[in-house]
Amino acid sequence: MKKLIFVTGGVCSSLGKGVTASSIGALMEARGLSVRMMKIDPYLNVDAGTMSPYQHGEVYVTDDGAETDLDLGNYARFTNAPITRANSITTGQVYDEVIRKEREGRYLGRTVQVVPHVTDAIKARVLAVADSPDVDLTIVEIGGTVGDMESIPFLEAARQLIHELGRQNAVSVHVTLVPTVSGGELKTKPTQHSVKELQEVGIQPDALVLRSGEPMDEAIRRKISAFTNIDFEGVISAHDVADTIYEIPLVFHDQGLDVFLLRRMGVESRHADLRAWKDVVRRFREPKRRVRIAVVGKYMELSDSYKSVWEALHHGGIANEAAVDLVRVDSGLLEKEGADLAAVLGDADGILVPGGFGHRGIDGMVAAARYARENGIPYFGICLGMQIMAIEWARNVLGWADANSGEFDRETPHAVVSLLEEQVDVKNYGGTMRLGAGRSALREGTAIRAAYGAAEISERHRHRYEFANAFRPQMEGAGLVIAALTPDGGLVEALEWPAHPWSVGVQFHPEFKSRPVAAHPLFRAFVEAAASRKG
Ligand code: GLN
Repeated sequence: MKKLIFVTGGVCSSLGKGVTASSIGALMEARGLSVRMMKIDPYLNVDAGTMSPYQHGEVYVTDDGAETDLDLGNYARFTNAPITRANSITTGQVYDEVIRKEREGRYLGRTVQVVPHVTDAIKARVLAVADSPDVDLTIVEIGGTVGDMESIPFLEAARQLIHELGRQNAVSVHVTLVPTVSGGELKTKPTQHSVKELQEVGIQPDALVLRSGEPMDEAIRRKISAFTNIDFEGVISAHDVADTIYEIPLVFHDQGLDVFLLRRMGVESRHADLRAWKDVVRRFREPKRRVRIAVVGKYMELSDSYKSVWEALHHGGIANEAAVDLVRVDSGLLEKEGADLAAVLGDADGILVPGGFGHRGIDGMVAAARYARENGIPYFGICLGMQIMAIEWARNVLGWADANSGEFDRETPHAVVSLLEEQVDVKNYGGTMRLGAGRSALREGTAIRAAYGAAEISERHRHRYEFANAFRPQMEGAGLVIAALTPDGGLVEALEWPAHPWSVGVQFHPEFKSRPVAAHPLFRAFVEAAASRKG
């Protein structure tokens, strides 16, 4: 029998449901189970692709080109579970499906309702993943907070599945906050209320994950257990961790959460092999050196906008036994009159320009790229960051002051970055970029090829603009290195500067495939270059 774990959240948002679900996934994999991860987002957007990173954080892209919530990135970092379009459900998708079916007359004249039609569509999507062959366990995270109007159909679908499959096959894990009031006392009331709300929709949680600043003592956990009908062993303290969120699987394991859930579901498993996670935490705690990486981008106010980039940089650090100090630079600051680049970037061991959309802050990124190029600082450009390399080269090496991307200047005669051919007639902005996995052939003798140690690779894309082939001869003529192309030679996939310690700009997003236990080769190589610059 396939098993399901539903992860819900209460009291308030941003408690780390995603990390909780991911950590449970990591523990189950460490016990040899084949795990799948799913996220349900109770918003009406069909996907996260059209949402501003300011509001919603990063958009995580899958191999099959889905633009999803950033929690899927957590799943990909903590587990080996394959993540595709099927692993991300939104209210928008479900309603879209139900309404289309209604228009096609497939409900045979019946009144179409939230229960059962919308809930059935949700259940079918969950079971499509959970019932697939070679899956032992599927962990479904229900976004939002219990008590929100938006999550009601999803909680109802979860309730029905728990009822239909039986409580030994589908369990509920609820994440809540235990706040501290002045005087340091921990307050359990919000948790009691939140569990009550979940019980009101017919779900009795099997386990509680309690977020708090400090570890919770036994008395508090016993009290919560007594008030919520949850076995004491299922009441887990998820206190803040000092060094890294990658410690959380170990925090849960030490309290027996994995054993408790498996016993609940009647699953036999091997002992947890957590060596890789312990090694990650050790490397975090005992770095042999430090490197400073300046990330120059535009969505800096919200730290989640580049979530996968931050994480991948830390993975690069773990691989090099180095602590990575991140310096977040708002590129807008670098383009002001009299901006002192040396003051901002002078002590950086490496400079990274990540992806982005829209013209704001572009000149600041160009200035940062120039600073890196002229001062021999390792440079890593991701998507927009590669396009910036092209613009910078055209402006400052070829002397075309008006060089730009067609995205930022429609009129320039030197559009060294231009709209992808397939994008010219696109009118609809949802899900229409060049999205998902694509292959690149890496040129011999380049830094990118050395990093991957392979001639051909596959990475995920999300862009409308590309390096303009019309300018290839002049750009290359002046020394710019075209380091990777699509295998048909049609699109430029990577650029490098000649005679530079380490400079790689890529049109794709390597950050989505980096894991703490297996750093992405480009992040490993970039941090290594930054560390060796430091000496
Ligand atoms: N805005 C650029 C494009 O659409 C870069 C996209 C990105 O960085 N993800 O091509």
